[in-house]
Amino acid sequence: MSSAPLPADFLRALSEGFPADFLTQDAEELKEYGRDWTRVYAPAPSAVALPRTTDEVARLLTLCHQHAVAVVPSGGRTGLAGGAVAAKGEVVLSLQRMARLGPVDLLGNTVRVQAGAVTEAVHRHCAEHGLTWPVDFASKGSSTVGGNIATNAGGVKVIRYGLTRNWVLGLQVVTAEGRVLELNGALEKNNTGLDLRQLFIGSEGTLGVITEATLKLTQLPGKQDVFLFAVPDVAAVLRLFRDARQQTAFLISAYEFFTDRCLARVQRHRKLRSPFEAPSGCYVLLEAESRDAAAVEAWLGSLFERGLVTDGTQAQGASQAAELWALREGISESLSATGLPHKNDISLPVAGLEAFCAELEAVFQSRYPGWEICLFGHIGDGNLHVNVMKPDALEKAEFLAHTKQADPTMFELVRKHAGSISAEHGIGLLKKDYLGYSRSEEELALLRSLKRTLDPRGVLNPGKILDA
Ligand code: ZN
Repeated sequence: MSSAPLPADFLRALSEGFPADFLTQDAEELKEYGRDWTRVYAPAPSAVALPRTTDEVARLLTLCHQHAVAVVPSGGRTGLAGGAVAAKGEVVLSLQRMARLGPVDLLGNTVRVQAGAVTEAVHRHCAEHGLTWPVDFASKGSSTVGGNIATNAGGVKVIRYGLTRNWVLGLQVVTAEGRVLELNGALEKNNTGLDLRQLFIGSEGTLGVITEATLKLTQLPGKQDVFLFAVPDVAAVLRLFRDARQQTAFLISAYEFFTDRCLARVQRHRKLRSPFEAPSGCYVLLEAESRDAAAVEAWLGSLFERGLVTDGTQAQGASQAAELWALREGISESLSATGLPHKNDISLPVAGLEAFCAELEAVFQSRYPGWEICLFGHIGDGNLHVNVMKPDALEKAEFLAHTKQADPTMFELVRKHAGSISAEHGIGLLKKDYLGYSRSEEELALLRSLKRTLDPRGVLNPGKILDA
């Protein structure tokens, strides 16, 4: 797709068949709607379309298909892989005006919503009925249902509930040619052949535009206890995890870890205090729903006796719980505020994490002695966020050149340990060149042929995930 100006007859059709405020070409809006949280790519869309109905989405896509105009579907733009970036003169299709929340079905535990509904608004809507859509992460105040589904978003509760994919019953999708598909309705069980809904979940807007979804809900969890533990290293993080998993006194709803380097950056930026006197190599944040308070108490006492932790604290009340969570959830922001991180989001089988982390550190230190690697993430799901910090002595361009060379070395390690180069952020533009580390040539060929079938003119989010 070129970044040539939009065809005049395309613009004319839009001005004749749609409301006056359907399309904007205002320079500020173009900048805002053309980027996500990646902040690596310069936004350069040619227009932003703001439909209010599925019919408008369908008619817009029909026109785009006819005129070969590239479209970037857009939710809350909180992604970290460039999936919602419009940098080549595309039309951004924002779903933000389509945010209707349907009534909660208390018999089926479902709710039908439009794609532009904000995640947190869905949470509030369902909480009135004691229910929740358990898709939860730091950007829930701006991320939208359509974006969550299109990227099969992860987050801090995956250990308990699984990825977004598990919580979508039905989808309404508009194809590249403007056809409206209703996939699976509100059915839990439907064994009528291939499940086309799953094709669009995680497709990052490259196969169709999600306009509505029927979400599967679950009961709000009971009271959550939040603990922070100090342990010496990653091996100890995993020993504690194995032990916690075997307990029946509580249900784990988050098992997060971070290293001392991450904590130091959060303390520097957020001016937060560590609850521990002595520093430690690693920290574990455990959130659990207690089923037997006395047994939890006994387990906590045994952790010290058995040498599984060197220190630990339990939040007394909601504000202390929030303080402990802030140490973990403030990491991403603190790394960016105190330096320049080169970010990677990878996953490994949990059993392979210890060996992987040891090798990763060794590879980096042999090539780049003294470089600071800040590791954190949803370790209970095998998901690591690997952040390499720019050393002060290096110029930005030089640092980026080095990390570009170092990434394939890390992806090679990921492949060796049977992991994935993207655990939860997706591929977008950022990881496109490395997809072959996690998907075989045969898979890539099949993915390309699916793309050609569903989007024959290549107008939907071109250049994302793979080049057609
Ligand atoms: Zn994450």
